[in-house]
Amino acid sequence: MVSLKKYALALLLTGSVLSAAEEIDPKLTEYWTPQPDVVNAPAGGVPSDAIVLFDGTHLNEWFITRENEDGEKEARPANWVLEDGAMIVPPRKKGGPSSDITSQQAFGDIQLHLEWRAPAEVKGDSQGRGNSGIFLMNRYEVQILDCYENETYVNGMTASTYKQTPPLVNACHAPGEWQTYDIFFKAPRFTPDGKLVEKATVTVVHNGVVVQLNTPLYGPTEYRGQPSYKYHTPRQPLRIQDHNNPVAFRNIWVRELDLP
Ligand code: MG
Repeated sequence: MVSLKKYALALLLTGSVLSAAEEIDPKLTEYWTPQPDVVNAPAGGVPSDAIVLFDGTHLNEWFITRENEDGEKEARPANWVLEDGAMIVPPRKKGGPSSDITSQQAFGDIQLHLEWRAPAEVKGDSQGRGNSGIFLMNRYEVQILDCYENETYVNGMTASTYKQTPPLVNACHAPGEWQTYDIFFKAPRFTPDGKLVEKATVTVVHNGVVVQLNTPLYGPTEYRGQPSYKYHTPRQPLRIQDHNNPVAFRNIWVRELDLP
């Protein structure tokens, strides 16, 4: 039991603290400039400050790379199949080169929206089923794979940072259905002489479900062995993987983020 005296004292003290706080002008902790830019963001549409990388009508924002007669790499027009407002990984001749597509523009910190669809006709299993991937800065892969009732190593499944971190949950739709990725990426920071000072991080929302939240990337995606960072410039293109499965894409846009 609290005595009446102690209760009265506590009331007195609390009251005096409150009145001291009330004396601070609330305006002292408000700032009004600079006002953020205005972005028009229609529901389900493309934000007004987005750079559209694929709107279903052409592949001009993307290129593929081929070796010329001298063994040098050359940019060629993207050869993906344009069909019903989507672009689809093209069939590959046996032993032929893969046709990863690379964006013409380069980016640093971004918000990226894309929609993808694994083939309705299920072929293969594990990593062989509806495999593609989005390589942030041309080297950090967020996996695209048909993991609907299809098990594989968890750090290689849909929305994993490939061979690094599994997704928090499996939010896959059935094959043949469109799926969404909303990706929030902060690029790694390097000193001018090339030392890593801050790892890249990525947040991934798959079909409206958060599956990666500020996940650190431990270096560029490696198929074999441990990843480790190598210096690169602050803006790099996006790349979408041709893994020899006819995965389709549509509605791809990116917003550049002005982070410190
Ligand atoms: Mg992949």
